[in-house]
Amino acid sequence: MTHPEDPKANKHKAAMEKQKAQVDASIEAAATERGVMILLTGDGKGKTTSAFGMVMRALGYGHKAGVVQFIKGEQLSGEELYLRDHCPQVEFHQMGTGFTWDTQDRSGDIAAAKATWACCEAMLADPSFDLVVLDELTYMLGFDYLDADRVLKVITERPSSQSVVVTGRGGGRGLREIADTVSEVKDIKHAFASGIMARRGVDY
Ligand code: ATP
Ligand code: MG
Repeated sequence: MTHPEDPKANKHKAAMEKQKAQVDASIEAAATERGVMILLTGDGKGKTTSAFGMVMRALGYGHKAGVVQFIKGEQLSGEELYLRDHCPQVEFHQMGTGFTWDTQDRSGDIAAAKATWACCEAMLADPSFDLVVLDELTYMLGFDYLDADRVLKVITERPSSQSVVVTGRGGGRGLREIADTVSEVKDIKHAFASGIMARRGVDY
């Protein structure tokens, strides 16, 4: 149908037809079905919350999800409270210490990181997990608290049906290479820089 009264309408229709053809062709070409490794990195807000969004998606389909958080702040988070109270089916672990800027105890942090990584290895070897979130794992590699080769190997050799989400700033070359999807959240501005306090239910 043409729209003589609206010149933009015909142009829009043609553009949409072209876009649909491109998307349809991509869908047709996607022939591999397997779990994916997703790296969410960058200095903007939205990495951890995006990972928890995927947990919610997975739960919607009755999938099994596990979450390991490598940095536990002093503050409880809403996602932790919610998962613990309402989602007993989600296996949830946290590195039991504060982190290096609180503890200033490198050897203690390394021991905690290694113990926490052991939980990850168990999940990453268990095909009953559809989704495993490794929140703030990037710092453990950045600080050399974990053996990067081992971490990359275990993630790469996980069950083929399993998807993994790794979050954290930095997210070095190794993680980028083994990831299927890499998104960098860019800080354009953050309320904190204007002196606005971190907000319950929004920031934690
Ligand atoms: P979120 O958990 O909100 O998704 P994130 O995982 O992307 O954030 P982190 O680097 O893990 O970001 O930091 C977590 C906390 O720091 C959150 O309270 C978040 O609002 C805040 N934050 C994130 N990015 C910035 C920033 N660029 N400046 C100041 N604070 C930030
Ligand atoms: Mg985060």
